[in-house]
Amino acid sequence: MKITNIYAVGRNYAAHAQEMGNKVLKEPIFFQKSSASLSDDSVITLPRGREIHHELEIVTSIGKGGNNIQVDDAWTHVDGLCLGLDLTDRPLQHKFKEGRLPWFLAKSFPGSAVITQFDPLDLNVWSRDFWLTINDMEVQRGNMDQMVFDIPALIAYLSARLPLTAGDLIYTGTPSGVGPLESGDEMILGLGEEIKGKFRVKSADK
Ligand code: ZN
Repeated sequence: MKITNIYAVGRNYAAHAQEMGNKVLKEPIFFQKSSASLSDDSVITLPRGREIHHELEIVTSIGKGGNNIQVDDAWTHVDGLCLGLDLTDRPLQHKFKEGRLPWFLAKSFPGSAVITQFDPLDLNVWSRDFWLTINDMEVQRGNMDQMVFDIPALIAYLSARLPLTAGDLIYTGTPSGVGPLESGDEMILGLGEEIKGKFRVKSADK
């Protein structure tokens, strides 16, 4: 399916909001990543001279679009889930935040929206912990049930304000443990016992 819009959610895990010094809000905060930033390549290339942080997230693929999708009906609009990385230029994002400016370019650069292969929806499988190791050290671990706003709530909220289209992706927020990537890092993304993706980080400087 052709991917159209890439939406993402901020502060959707309380422990991550806390580590960033943010409050958990009463309504979800959405932002967008450019579809030009999408990548399923096993090599992550860091843009020259920038500090890029990993955010491990469950990514929802919308299979059937709609307006005003109800919470009870929301899963029928999802055709798959995968693990992804919402790569972020953190210093640039802080600079934009300080200036009260949109942080779009801190979230959208070539390869910043990393996806792995989408699985058909199976909530028994996806109720397992998902995790990220860097150089064999676990840095992030989360579980769908820790989301402040679960996936049906996100779909209902967004589709009440904007039509969702088949092919849209929603990055559903990151658990705590975000941090910078270095050239040479080896990343493994997993769900339960299963490895969902492996990535090697290299710098565009070399
Ligand atoms: Zn994120």
